[in-house]
Amino acid sequence: MLEQYALTNLKGVGPKQVEKLNKLGLFVVQDLLFHLPLRYQDKTRITPIEEVKIGSEVLVEGAIFSQALSRGRRNTLAVKIQSDSGATVTLRFFHFHHRQAQQMTRGKIIRAFGEVRSGPNGLEIVHPSYQLINSGQYIELEETLTPVYPTTEGLGQASILKLIKQAVELVKQNPLTELLPKEALTKLDLPPLNQALLTLHQPQPEDNLFAIKQFEHPSQQRLIIEELISQQVGLQVLRKQEQKRTAPKLPTSHTANALLASLPFSLTQAQQRVLTEIQNDLNQPHPMQRLVQGDVGSGKTVIAALAAIQAADAGYQVAVMAPTEILAEQHLNAFLEWLEPLNIKVAWVNGRMKAAERRHQLSVIESGEAQVIIGTHALFQDTVEFHKLGLVIIDEQHRFGVHQRLALKQKGDDKLSQLQEVHAHQLVMTATPIPRTLAMTAYGDLDLSIIDELPPGRKPIETAVLSNEKRFEVMEHLYAKCKQGIQAYWVCPLIEESELLHAQAAEVTANQFTERWPDLKVGLIHGRLKGDQKAMVMEAFKNHDLDLLVATTVIEVGVNVPNASLMIIENAERLGLAQLHQLRGRVGRGDLQSHCVLLYQPPLSETGKARLNIMRETTDGFRIAEEDLKIRGPGEILGTKQTGGLQFRIADLKRDSQWFPTAHYWAEQMVENHKQLVKPLQKRWIGQKIDYQQA
Ligand code: ADP
Ligand code: MG
Repeated sequence: MLEQYALTNLKGVGPKQVEKLNKLGLFVVQDLLFHLPLRYQDKTRITPIEEVKIGSEVLVEGAIFSQALSRGRRNTLAVKIQSDSGATVTLRFFHFHHRQAQQMTRGKIIRAFGEVRSGPNGLEIVHPSYQLINSGQYIELEETLTPVYPTTEGLGQASILKLIKQAVELVKQNPLTELLPKEALTKLDLPPLNQALLTLHQPQPEDNLFAIKQFEHPSQQRLIIEELISQQVGLQVLRKQEQKRTAPKLPTSHTANALLASLPFSLTQAQQRVLTEIQNDLNQPHPMQRLVQGDVGSGKTVIAALAAIQAADAGYQVAVMAPTEILAEQHLNAFLEWLEPLNIKVAWVNGRMKAAERRHQLSVIESGEAQVIIGTHALFQDTVEFHKLGLVIIDEQHRFGVHQRLALKQKGDDKLSQLQEVHAHQLVMTATPIPRTLAMTAYGDLDLSIIDELPPGRKPIETAVLSNEKRFEVMEHLYAKCKQGIQAYWVCPLIEESELLHAQAAEVTANQFTERWPDLKVGLIHGRLKGDQKAMVMEAFKNHDLDLLVATTVIEVGVNVPNASLMIIENAERLGLAQLHQLRGRVGRGDLQSHCVLLYQPPLSETGKARLNIMRETTDGFRIAEEDLKIRGPGEILGTKQTGGLQFRIADLKRDSQWFPTAHYWAEQMVENHKQLVKPLQKRWIGQKIDYQQA
């Protein structure tokens, strides 16, 4: 069985090679077959020099016209070649032997392959691979595409190619087992696995090479879908395990109605719908696993509070976790205001409390006196002992990665299972609207609820995009507005990758304001402030003791000051749309018409312009997310850290999104009806990364 065939059975593979192969995630011969080409080189035809285009990878042929050797910090060899009709392209080398230069004499014919760039003297190819052709000599072109594989230190393209050739010969004799259910193969009408692998490793001249280069060949689609299914299967197995566990059945409580009655507003229909979904989940004897997506300002906090009441009323504790202390603080205030009048006791833990205070909080948590506990995710990392945890609420999930969320959950579970037989319900909330299909892929283990409606009376934020040349006018305008009683944010995003410089930029801006307008009350908040300093500044801004808050992106999520209705964001062109949307969501939270000014540093590129225009045109987070997905790809949307859990061999979340629903469907089928195929499939695609004890 090739599935278990050791690498050392291949020619030229000793212990050293094995080590290197392991580094690439290759442990058995089967893994080599799933080490798929990143892309293909086309050396099947010669592109006439007059037709080469910047950015394309081409095979060209011409006569050497001139050679220039320049010495300096870097020796450079520039060889200009010419076609019959006189078109030229320069081959540029930075590493070369003296002998190479000597061989490339004027008039010799050379065939070279590489990527075309624009150079100082016209088009050039840097470090092409090349062959010199003697007069009268005929060198055949490649018959088919040349695959390019991911490599690692000390294991180059050529060695990998050799090994894969051997693996391919082996698979011809010993085909791999199909792991997709038959009905999936029939319905999808895609080629069998072994054929697909052969095509991708060794495309034949008669294959549709153009489609292969575009990753649109049925063989590629076949593997892409299989990989996506294997990833989805993983999440659904997790989900199944969770569904088998027991959680406390928490019936809906009247106390929730008491809170609703005391609020100055009634829930929107969307809030009501999502609340009902949560209430039903909590009333089941299995852990809720729900993700609530709701745009900034859609009112997720009150939903969290209502869920917390349901758990507290049934005699269980609730942990509410926020990604930052500022946010935790803000939740604390809201929960104290809403829950204490209902006789629900709220406790909290933060990184800067005095030892005595901390001891007290920990003891009321451990004794069970405290029913709702608020903190950052440190709640699960340190010494907090819960009494009887029934519900975990994780807010602003997008600040945690996929891995972090799973790890957090694991920690929570470990911690809980020591204490109690039953597992806690889990409610995850995020303000990053993720297109539904992508959400299914990234959070396939969770049920999805969407609050797709903002509370009534909110006036859409008006956004202007201005060049930094207008900065001073914007400052003057801000001052005038503050004098009329509104409050404003001025955000200085990260320019240098340094927290210090970052903080300094904000400091400089704050000083500019106070020097020019001493009567303007200016606060400053950035990541280098201590927790209690931050809290003090936020409190002062909230109480309107400050007119202007100059901030770094630490205020990105969740901060809620309804009287603040003007926001300026500097260097807006450097931020992602999702992040701009988050930042902008700090205003437009009250009855006032809010404004946002996006300042950019000219000149602005075409995409830069297009992106900022989207911000001007819409405040719809879902639309912004769709655009962001188109422009920047899913890694950025999910947050760079989050792609960790979503690394694929052949699938590409951006290119292949049309397959998500199909993959989701077949993954469900497999988990339901083809359990025996699940583990081998995961092993095939995820290899050593998965923890078998758990699966
Ligand atoms: P987010 O979803 O961004 O966390 P919040 O929960 O902070 O939003 O809510 C934003 C503001 O809207 C808060 O002041 C909250 O009290 C208020 N709010 C929530 N729901 C409603 C509603 N149905 N009608 C009016 N205001 C609401
Ligand atoms: Mg919030």
